[in-house]
Amino acid sequence: MARLPDKISFYCKKCTTHRVGKVKQEKGGRRSGGLNWSHRRMKHRRRGHGNLGRYSKKPVAQTKMSSKTSKKIDLRITCPECGKIAVMNKPRAKRFEIFRKL
Ligand SMILES: [Zn+2]
Repeated sequence: MARLPDKISFYCKKCTTHRVGKVKQEKGGRRSGGLNWSHRRMKHRRRGHGNLGRYSKKPVAQTKMSSKTSKKIDLRITCPECGKIAVMNKPRAKRFEIFRKL
């Protein structure tokens, strides 16, 4: 369980000074359609190998795909002066909470 205050001092690249910005948790980013460059390359390389996963093998369950039990939390900090959004480096936690600093 990770807890973070809703207002954090950070360095704004646009203002080139430190400011106290609002922390927001970004949720549910969706991948835009199509494959990226590395996926296209791997798809091309794999051509002619294997049975394309059609026969004899059951699909691997999503739970077995990754060994990690926690997820990275996507945090953004907004600058109150210029509105520039900075990305915090992402902590790992099973559960996450932003509490209001008094
Ligand atoms: Zn700024």
